[in-house]
Amino acid sequence: MKVGVVGCGVGGMGAALALARRGHEVTLLEAFAAPRPVGSGLLLQPTGLKALATLGLGDAIRASGAPIERLDGRDLTGRKVLDVNYSDWRKDGHGIGIHRATLFDALHAALGPAGVTVITGARITRIEDTRRPVLHDESGRAHGPFDLAVVADGSASGLRQALKPGSRARPYPWGAVWANAPDPDGVWNGALSQIYDRAEVMVGVLPVGRGPDSGERLVSLFWSLPVADMDAFYAGDFDAWKTRVRTVWPAIAPLLETLPDAQGMARAVYRDVWVGRWNAQATLLIGDAAHGTSPQLGQGANLALVDAVELGERFNGATTSVTVTAAAYEADRRRHVMIYQFVSWAMTPLFQSHGGFWAGVRRWLFTPLSRTPGIRQLGAAILTGTARLGRWPDATRP
Ligand SMILES: Cc1cc2nc3c(=O)[nH]c(=O)nc-3n(C[C@H](O)[C@H](O)[C@H](O)COP(=O)(O)OP(=O)(O)OC[C@H]3O[C@@H](n4cnc5c(N)ncnc54)[C@H](O)[C@@H]3O)c2cc1C
Repeated sequence: MKVGVVGCGVGGMGAALALARRGHEVTLLEAFAAPRPVGSGLLLQPTGLKALATLGLGDAIRASGAPIERLDGRDLTGRKVLDVNYSDWRKDGHGIGIHRATLFDALHAALGPAGVTVITGARITRIEDTRRPVLHDESGRAHGPFDLAVVADGSASGLRQALKPGSRARPYPWGAVWANAPDPDGVWNGALSQIYDRAEVMVGVLPVGRGPDSGERLVSLFWSLPVADMDAFYAGDFDAWKTRVRTVWPAIAPLLETLPDAQGMARAVYRDVWVGRWNAQATLLIGDAAHGTSPQLGQGANLALVDAVELGERFNGATTSVTVTAAAYEADRRRHVMIYQFVSWAMTPLFQSHGGFWAGVRRWLFTPLSRTPGIRQLGAAILTGTARLGRWPDATRP
C-alpha cells in the first residue's frame, strides 16, 4: 500500500514507522524545512512506552529518560491535592519523563532505516479525492495518489475542517510556559510535582532525564497562565515573576536561578478537538489532529503513539477496503481515546480557572473522592493511560 503521512510530530513519525515496518511504501510530508520538536518535556505513560517498545525504541527512550513513580500535587499549605501512584496500577509501574528532543530524535533517526521517504518544506494545504488521496502543498506540488493518507498535523490542523466540516477545535483559555533547567543532583527524581494556589496558579516540575545535547540531568518546569496574559508575561518583568514563583514554592528557587529570561520559556496553548469520525474514506486523522485535549492528564503524545502502532497493526494483512479498515480502526481507537477526552475536559477547570468555585470543588469533592478505595485505583488506571473500553491489541497492551 502507498501511504502519505502529513506531519512529522510524534503521531506522524510513529505512524510512518509502524506502517513502513509492515512493508508499506510511506512518504512523510512535513511543513517545516527542518522538522523540530515543540516544547520542553513530556511524560510517557506505560501505554506510550509499550508502543515505543513495539517500534523498537523502548530501550533507548528508557535509557535517556527519568522514571516517574507518582504524581504529587499540593496546595500552598502543603496539603495533598493529587496523590496518584503508579504502584496502584501495577507493583513496578512507572512512567518516563523525557526531553521532547530526545523522543523526537529517536523517532526521526528510525525513519530512514525503516525506508520512510521524508519530504520537508511541504506544507499540505489541500487534499484531493479522499478515496485515493493526492496531497497538494503550498508550493503547488502534488504528492500521491496514495492508497491511504494519514493526517497527523497536530491540534491546530489546517486540514481537519475541510475533511470534517462539523469538527470543533476550541482553544483553551489557559495555557502554560515551559523551560528546562538542570537538576544535577536529582533532587526532583521520581515524581511529577505540582503546587497550586486555588485553580489560578499551577507550577510544576517534571524530571526528563538527560537532554539530547548534554549528559546533564534536566527537569521541565512549567507555569500555568491564561492565554490572554501570555504577551504580558513575555514583555513583563521576569525577575518579578521569579519572585512570585519563589513565594508560591520556595523549593523551586535553585531552578529559577538558571532561567535567563522570559524568551527562554516555550509558549504552550492547547485545543479541545472533537471531529466525530476520524476518517473520510481513505483519509484518516490521528493524534492531536483527531483528538487534541488539554495536557492536564499528560496523555496526548501517548495516545498519538498508540494511534500509530495500532494503525500499523490494523493494516497488516487487512483484507477489507482501505475505507472499511480505516473506519474499523477508528471505532476501536475511540473506545480508548474518548475516556481521555472526557476526563481531560472535565478536570481542566479544577486546575486552570479563575475564582474559587472549581478550586472548592477540587478541595471538597475531587480530592476526598480520589482517595477512596476503588476510585484511587481508577485514578491510577487513568493516569497510566491504561483505562480502555474493549480489548488491548498485543502490540500496545501495557
Ligand atoms: C504544554 C504541553 C504539555 C504536554 N505534556 C504532555 C505529556 O506530559 N505527555 C503527553 O503524552 N503529551 C503531552 N502533551 C501533548 C503532546 O505534546 C501532543 O499530544 C503530541 O505532541 C501530539 O502529537 P501529534 O503528532 O499529533 O502533533 P504535533 O506534535 O503537533 O505534530 C504536528 C506536526 O505536523 C506538522 N504540520 C502541521 N501542519 C502541517 C501541514 N499542513 N503540512 C505538513 N505538516 C504540517 C507540524 O509542523 C508538526 O511537525 C503536552 C502538550 C502541551 C502543549
